[in-house]
Amino acid sequence: MSNNIVAIVGRPNVGKSTLFNRLIQRREAIVDSVSGVTRDRNYGKSEWNGKEFSVIDTGGYVRGSDDVFEGEIRKQVELAIDEADVIIFVVDVEEGITPMDETVAKLLRKVTKPVLLAVNKVDNAMREKDAVEFYNLGLGDYYTFASISGSGTGDLLDALIEAFPEKPEVEVKEDLPRFAVVGRPNAGKSSFINALIGKDRYIVTDIAGTTRDAIDTKFDRFGFEFNLVDTAGIRRKAKVKEDLEFYSVMRSVRAIEHADICILVIDATRGFEGQDQSIFWLAEKNRKGVVILVNKWDLVEKDTMSTRDYEEKIKKELMPFTDVPILFVSALTKQRLLKALEATVQVFENRKQRISTSKFNEYMLKVIEAYPPPATKGKYVKIKYCMQLPTPTPQFVFFANLPQYVKEPYKRYLENKIREKWDFAGVPIDIYIREK
Ligand code: GDP
Repeated sequence: MSNNIVAIVGRPNVGKSTLFNRLIQRREAIVDSVSGVTRDRNYGKSEWNGKEFSVIDTGGYVRGSDDVFEGEIRKQVELAIDEADVIIFVVDVEEGITPMDETVAKLLRKVTKPVLLAVNKVDNAMREKDAVEFYNLGLGDYYTFASISGSGTGDLLDALIEAFPEKPEVEVKEDLPRFAVVGRPNAGKSSFINALIGKDRYIVTDIAGTTRDAIDTKFDRFGFEFNLVDTAGIRRKAKVKEDLEFYSVMRSVRAIEHADICILVIDATRGFEGQDQSIFWLAEKNRKGVVILVNKWDLVEKDTMSTRDYEEKIKKELMPFTDVPILFVSALTKQRLLKALEATVQVFENRKQRISTSKFNEYMLKVIEAYPPPATKGKYVKIKYCMQLPTPTPQFVFFANLPQYVKEPYKRYLENKIREKWDFAGVPIDIYIREK
């Protein structure tokens, strides 16, 4: 679970996004074909030499604007310093060192985390020579590459993998569920946690987390036992009031990646907004369980809005993954907080449930017989066998004679049938069709 996070920083138009896209390319394509939805491209997963890592393009928010203020760049770099394990600083050999590069370098020189200086647009020997100039940034050695063609990225990636900190193997003293409370600023995350924990510090034990800056807080009360995954991002709250969507969403990355289940707190008076959606998507993409808490329900006029209407509205935004528990709570009046915990524990159970191969076949083969995959080009697809894979999150494989002819809608049908029969509420499911 030692998932490393890499952040790409640099001023606009140096090729951050091209590098980012290059790193996440293949996986992204897969995910998109599943959800069928286009999302912001600020976060993605990548892999090199069998090592997985997450990538944040910190320029995501300011990209394209010529008029970037120093404060904006500072924010970008601070986000990288706080959230990433390794930072890639991209500069452009064509332009040479600009004052903005110097600002970034100054911030990065103070950092103890590994920083890789990556000089972009180096595609000939001449430019290779020009790149020497970047020693002046005081960041030591650099890597040259050309993000458009991809040349040089292999060496950069080798260096990146080398730079990942040695993380101590996760010491799982207890196999407790890990819940992260996420949501945008002011949704009521802290109030929710405080309402649960109260001022009774004796029930709270801080134990060293799995990374330097993720802290688990053991919760043991009302018959519930789990670890709350807190992060520097959440604790820092008092200091930084993030208003930009991009930054507040990216601050959730580590918490989400380290959790089993995400408790997504939204503000009932504002509805399910873009940021909520992005955080939901992060959780789903990482195959985490999700529970949505519509907080501040005490402030909503019950005559004008029923929970049913509200729920319908949210589910429209969750498409196609709508099988998610939605609870209406108030951290202030402590309304339904225990219900919220119950629902979260249930999602945890759902996520780890294993369906026996015989039961699964018995049910699903009938389902398939009743409504087989449509014939393509006069060819009939036969599915004879299926099973749940022994993976940490629910994945199901169906063996077919012509797997390439089983399309998205049919996979969705299979998923819906699984969800009808077994309780996978709040849990993303993967369906694979393989040649038998
Ligand atoms: P966070 O940024 O997500 O941690 O949000 P906070 O917990 O700091 O809450 C933001 C504001 O909303 C504070 O002023 C809280 O008092 C208020 N608040 C939080 N939960 C509720 C709620 O259930 N009902 C009402 N009326 N106010 C709430």
